[in-house]
Amino acid sequence: KALSGYYYVKPILNGRAVTTEGQPAIQCRARGVFRDRGISPLVGDHVVYTLSDHDEGTVTEIKPRHSQLIRPPIANVQFAVLVFSLREPDLNLPLLDKFLVHIEHSGLNAIICLTKQDLLDGKVMDKKDPIIFVQELYEQIGYEVILTSSRSGMGQEQLRERLAGHICVFSGQSGVGKSSLLNALMPSLNLETNEISMKLGRGKHTTRHVELIELDNGAFVADTPGFSQLDFLEMEVGDLSSCFREFKPFSDECKFRGCSHLHEPGCKVIAAVKQGEIAQIRYDNYMQFYAEMKDKKRRY
Ligand code: GDP
Ligand code: ZN
Repeated sequence: KALSGYYYVKPILNGRAVTTEGQPAIQCRARGVFRDRGISPLVGDHVVYTLSDHDEGTVTEIKPRHSQLIRPPIANVQFAVLVFSLREPDLNLPLLDKFLVHIEHSGLNAIICLTKQDLLDGKVMDKKDPIIFVQELYEQIGYEVILTSSRSGMGQEQLRERLAGHICVFSGQSGVGKSSLLNALMPSLNLETNEISMKLGRGKHTTRHVELIELDNGAFVADTPGFSQLDFLEMEVGDLSSCFREFKPFSDECKFRGCSHLHEPGCKVIAAVKQGEIAQIRYDNYMQFYAEMKDKKRRY
């Protein structure tokens, strides 16, 4: 994290941060050469540093990044955990697809985490149940889906195991249970949940700097929500279809290169939707986002 020009570096040994009592991180300055080249260390970076005599260090090298998020600014994120509640609030599929577009665009892996599973208890769960449908739909596309409940503890061990040794961000609307989930994953974290902040008569505090919190299994979780802004400004409309990963085998076969899959003759994506090989609901969201992007481009 960068605060008043300092970076706090944790020494890593065998993939785990080595922390010493009383000194969890080494205070470093970055070498001027980075600034000259217009780059600076980011949270999540793997760096090389040298120690000077008074326990301060200098970052001398930034290792190549696998990924780089802009908002929040974090390097080397492997997983975006998309937190969506099944109920209270009800599952919002267009928003889930919007998150997935951003994830595909950023080159991250997604884990779809469906929370508040306990709120479904006692209700009939048959094949037509939207939850089962949603889980199947996204698993077929190739996404990982984990059902969780912070009340019953369901899915938490599975999620912990999945995140072990990786840097991840949690994304989702407020109220879906992100804080409760993170608290359950790491009890000592003590994040303020909505319940508590409402009792105290204030909103949750917002942090301006980004910090990675280490779970006891070597997972690092960003303390700010990922993808806080979900506008399409940084994307080209032509990139949208590649962010719907199940379109790929079909879009490769479209008659026209650069096919928008909206109305072109010989479009294999449209044909696949008609055949039920691509889910209508996903295609509807594709069309919706396409229109939104066109509209944004016109206005800015
Ligand atoms: P955040 O805004 O996403 O961080 O959500 P919070 O963790 O603050 O939770 C929002 C509300 O949902 C709180 O009233 C929680 O008690 C409740 N909640 C969170 N997780 C669960 C869950 O698994 N089951 C149920 N029934 N309620 C939950
Ligand atoms: Zn097409």
